[in-house]
Amino acid sequence: MKKINSSLAQSLLAGDRIALAKAITLVESASPRHHREAQKIIDEILPYTGKSIRVGVTGVPGAGKSTFIEALGNFLISKKKRKVAVLAIDPTSTVSKGSILGDKTRMESLARNENAFIRPSPSAGVPGGVAAATRESILLCEAAGYDVIFVETMGVGQSETAVHSMVDFLLLLLLPGAGDELQGMKRGIVELADLLAVNKADGGNLQKVKLAQAAYKQALRLFPPNENGWKPDVVTCSALTGDGIPQIWKRIEDFEKLTKANRWFHVKRQEQSRQWLRERVLETVIKQLRENPKLKKKFTELERQVENGKMSVISATRALVMSFTE
Ligand code: GDP
Repeated sequence: MKKINSSLAQSLLAGDRIALAKAITLVESASPRHHREAQKIIDEILPYTGKSIRVGVTGVPGAGKSTFIEALGNFLISKKKRKVAVLAIDPTSTVSKGSILGDKTRMESLARNENAFIRPSPSAGVPGGVAAATRESILLCEAAGYDVIFVETMGVGQSETAVHSMVDFLLLLLLPGAGDELQGMKRGIVELADLLAVNKADGGNLQKVKLAQAAYKQALRLFPPNENGWKPDVVTCSALTGDGIPQIWKRIEDFEKLTKANRWFHVKRQEQSRQWLRERVLETVIKQLRENPKLKKKFTELERQVENGKMSVISATRALVMSFTE
């Protein structure tokens, strides 16, 4: 292995949580200098990443995502000797909101555990976007030795597809009752999920939970089988009492075993990396067009020519691409 030059990367690789938090702060920073530092660290730690299972947890606000992650996280640490990191992704998060939803008020018992690391969503102002920062944070957590990474969605809508593009397994938490209305979520999210869990299966909810489970099982039948050979299912759990939590973990382990054996685990990660690269390239090109004075001028000129019918879109594009290499 190559020698690690940065002392922050060294501490991070030794599992130092403060170093991990600092590195994530660099990733999220708006300062170009910090950003360059962050990229250097990521390049150094890259050989030590990838060895976790990345689990997305989504569901409407109030479904019990935080309570669930805390229960499963504590189970994994105490019974399975795992190290658990929890990242949140909220494309609408602002700095102040991010800190309110931060590790102090949520998941208190998990946050106190030395084998857990909890980080609120980056704020919407981060360069490259919230999703890019979260993807890089996943790598940093892995390098620091966390082998189960939860990515919790906070906002509704956009964050679900973003989270799907960065995890191995997506769990959709549902409320009892409200069967076929899909609980304010787009139908698409049910299609993306690897497992559906009707939460709050406790107290007087049991009847409603069973109804919801049956309705969702019915809904799943409408979807075509997955290419990876995995059959999504609907289970029930209570994040409050812990009922069903070990069984959900068993499903995630089964998924990991199956998709590692048939290589889909790897194939999906490769596709995610390619997609990430494509997004980054597009962003970088657009940023250059906005910020590089020469390119900006050229682009405006070409736009005018196209507008006035003096040049075709194809020729203008070609001319623009040429000016990138000049
Ligand atoms: P989130 O918005 O999806 O993260 O949901 P929270 O974890 O904040 O939970 C929302 C509310 O539901 C809280 O009052 C929790 O105490 C409660 N809750 C979460 N899980 C359960 C459960 O399994 N059973 C019951 N009865 N309440 C739950």
